Amino acid sequence: MTVLFQTRQPTVRCNRCGHKTPITLKTRAYGRGKKEHYFTCHTCRTKYTSYCTDEQVRAWQKKARTETDSDQLLLLQTKMKERMDKLKEELPQ
Ligand SMILES: [Zn+2]
Repeated sequence: MTVLFQTRQPTVRCNRCGHKTPITLKTRAYGRGKKEHYFTCHTCRTKYTSYCTDEQVRAWQKKARTETDSDQLLLLQTKMKERMDKLKEELPQ
């Protein structure tokens, strides 16, 4: 999927119907602080998950904002990415 940045809102071309749709991010909460950030195609309603977070990821994000050591920051970013990928995989389909 190619993200096309336009004047204000980014849009993508939907993989399913081929229409362009604006990315309007919505959030859905699951148990234990898990949140899914997603958008749906305005034409065919296909759901696309952008990313997932939980309390651990958000704690790392907070830490990353004040981390000044670049090695530590890189380590944090790697851990966050791995966990976010895992959270996304675990989502109910
Ligand atoms: Zn679509």
